[in-house]
Amino acid sequence: IWTDVLGYVRKNISEVEYHTWFAPVRPLGVQQGSLVLGVRNSFAQEWFRKHYLELLEDALRSMGAQQPQVSFQVLPAVQDAMMLPADPPPPPKSSTRGPRSAPERPAVTPTENRKSLNPKYIFENFVVGPNNNLAHAASLAVAESPGKAYNPLFIYGDVGLGKTHLMHAVGHYMSERYPDKRIEYVSTESFTNDLINAIREDKMTQFRNRYRSVDLLLVDDIQFLAGKERTQEEFFHTFNALYENHKQIILSSDRPPKDIQTLEGRLRSRFEWGLITDIQSPEFETRVAILKMNAEHHRMNIPQDVLELIARQVTSNIRELEGALMRVVAFASLNNVPFSRTVAAKALSNVFAPQEVKVEMADVLRAVAAQYNIPPEAIRGSGRVREVVTPRQVAMYLIRELTGHSLPEIGGFFGRDHSTVMHAISKVTEQLGKDSEMTEAVAFLKRRLQGLEGEEL
Ligand code: ADP
Ligand code: MG
Repeated sequence: IWTDVLGYVRKNISEVEYHTWFAPVRPLGVQQGSLVLGVRNSFAQEWFRKHYLELLEDALRSMGAQQPQVSFQVLPAVQDAMMLPADPPPPPKSSTRGPRSAPERPAVTPTENRKSLNPKYIFENFVVGPNNNLAHAASLAVAESPGKAYNPLFIYGDVGLGKTHLMHAVGHYMSERYPDKRIEYVSTESFTNDLINAIREDKMTQFRNRYRSVDLLLVDDIQFLAGKERTQEEFFHTFNALYENHKQIILSSDRPPKDIQTLEGRLRSRFEWGLITDIQSPEFETRVAILKMNAEHHRMNIPQDVLELIARQVTSNIRELEGALMRVVAFASLNNVPFSRTVAAKALSNVFAPQEVKVEMADVLRAVAAQYNIPPEAIRGSGRVREVVTPRQVAMYLIRELTGHSLPEIGGFFGRDHSTVMHAISKVTEQLGKDSEMTEAVAFLKRRLQGLEGEEL
């Protein structure tokens, strides 16, 4: 029945949602008339109860169940799906197999393929939010039809936002589904070093064989090609050889191709042939979800308000976010105290702003009013002209980001209901990155409210 349920589910949700949530689920059987599903952690369990219970019941109903019941059970360490009675991986579709480049190449084993991949960096451990959903969807599409969907896939974004994680995830996904495919992950630096060594030791043939016989080439931090003419030259030929054979290439960088200085025009244009997608800093909700997932992985029960406090402290780099969580955990266990907001604030006090900057709703309102040069009352008033609607939406967005007040609380402050607030937040989120005036205003206000810039408010 599980296969039928999945079939139904898949028709009703997006592909990305399906893969993020349903692919890792394991059917555990039927107990007392209830379908029992194994999920990865209690976060997933909660998520399923909240978001997918009805859908699953509908699925069962569509299959004739009178009183469908579904329950969830957290599985112990499901990383290694091999241990569980999983569905066999789908047979590779013949259409997705590109022509073989080197006919006599030796067989590869999945372990060999994965040796350079971090086992933690899989799709299941990647939290999808508005900041990264396009990059995530593109990676998934590429993983499903390598060489067909987008080639090359170019992912750019600041450090610590998940580029390497996504690249590895594609590698894992492919090596699971197509164990005979060859996968090579390399940083631009080691590509360069390999090349230098190959030239010095007169081993260019080996070098070329290594990089041109793969089915998936992942090259990380490609911005480091800048200024390296010989490496660019060689990479140009590697790129062409793979591209012509319909082999998938994924590149990451801290900036888009057009902003990489001293990159040969022919390489730049090739990097732009496929799809260019970016990852932005995660929103508050996404940061909390990432922390939650991390805590679950370490089997730690950390109260929501503590996670929110950490998420408010670290706003851009996810590696730092994880570091902050570990710091709080270490601090609490060294001092043998339970997790609390006070403990977390103490643990983080010498890393981040010395005194915790507590932002109130009124602070945000004042700052936004000053920024847009309108009275605060107008923002909270009932006016519907654009001159007040935009600042109002920005204010709601910033309050949510910086104070951690709930949607209904924010709604109350503005004399509106929570769905208005939700709408405002998604409106602003949508325009960030697109509307440069708005992006700048929001970034400036954020810094100012966090005490990092401008005079005290
Ligand atoms: P980048 O390559 O962009 O510098 P990484 O891929 O190394 O960033 O990510 C930094 C850390 O943050 C890694 O530990 C990674 O697992 C984690 N991370 C990044 N994005 C996410 C996400 N969306 N969900 C969960 N963890 C993430
Ligand atoms: Mg990286």
